[in-house]
Amino acid sequence: MVSRPNLDNANMKMPSYFNFPALDVSVAFPQATPASTFPPCASDYFHFNDLLKPEEQAVRNRVRECMEKEIAPIMTEYWEKAEFPFHVIPKFAALRIAGGTIKGYGCPDLSIAGSAVAAAEVARVDASCSTFFLVHSSLAMLTIALCGSEAQKQKYLPSLAQMKTIACWALTEPDYGSDASALKTTATKVEGGWILDGQKRWIGNSTFADLLVIFARNMTTNQINGYIVKKDAPGLTVTKMENKIGLRIVQNGDIVMGKVFVPDDDRLEGVNSFQDTNKVPKGEETVWSTISSFPNQSTETCSNAR
Ligand SMILES: Cc1cc2nc3c(=O)[nH]c(=O)nc-3n(C[C@H](O)[C@H](O)[C@H](O)COP(=O)(O)OP(=O)(O)OC[C@H]3O[C@@H](n4cnc5c(N)ncnc54)[C@H](O)[C@@H]3O)c2cc1C
Repeated sequence: MVSRPNLDNANMKMPSYFNFPALDVSVAFPQATPASTFPPCASDYFHFNDLLKPEEQAVRNRVRECMEKEIAPIMTEYWEKAEFPFHVIPKFAALRIAGGTIKGYGCPDLSIAGSAVAAAEVARVDASCSTFFLVHSSLAMLTIALCGSEAQKQKYLPSLAQMKTIACWALTEPDYGSDASALKTTATKVEGGWILDGQKRWIGNSTFADLLVIFARNMTTNQINGYIVKKDAPGLTVTKMENKIGLRIVQNGDIVMGKVFVPDDDRLEGVNSFQDTNKVPKGEETVWSTISSFPNQSTETCSNAR
């Protein structure tokens, strides 16, 4: 008869897999391709590069070079630690791609193809890195660009484009993900502003973001509105979600808002219903459809994965 361990025994010593130093992947998995020798793009099967304008090729080349030389060698270590490599933010900023297709306000005004190749080159090397970048640039910045007032664009976009400040975009809640239109965070009008109460979950970049774009239900109209919340707003708490098995470098946060005051100046005037939250994915649709037309990215990566 097989004897079973007594799991009720409080004194029993359980093995702990946590708090070990990061694995040296080349030692632990010698069969794996070490991140430090991330295979370069050796070919362009569909001659896609020939279709790009010179300035789009230039964006592609500078993002590719940075990702392969600066980012790939460190990503495995940070993935193991589930930490974000903050020192890479200035390297990203120097690429001048944050803000993508946004015109003015210090943003790069890239073409749709230029913005798409930049995002694809980041994703080719590291999916967590591209999630960090797209949440900041394509969700938060684009929401401010499409739905913000002129004053908000002038105030927030230049430093977001230079990545001197980082943003997140908070729609999902603990009980509302796919059905986000039913979200329960409330926005109550008070003199000079709004009071936000509620929770958000899974919000990428939120543990360190300077600005949080938050969606909440206007208690007067019962419609979804958008707000820009500063990280040090009284009543705002963000806790890192631990023990993820994927996208471990992405810092997902649980946000709790208890009577967070947002001045009228920081309400996004262009978000007046749940439909308006769709303006951003719509704006990005063209970029994403361009990215998905890059079969060479995945083909290249698959052919390199031996
Ligand atoms: C790494 C990561 C980063 C994220 N970053 C952000 C962020 O920055 N901002 C943000 O707002 N959110 C973010 N999210 C949240 C993400 O948008 C939600 O996880 C997503 O919307 C799904 O919601 P859920 O997790 O509650 O899953 P659920 O909605 O509970 O879905 C669970 C499963 O049920 C299925 N399902 C749901 N409804 C139906 C239905 N009616 N019929 C059939 N199947 C159904 C779904 O397809 C899914 O497989 C992030 C999530 C992850 C994992």
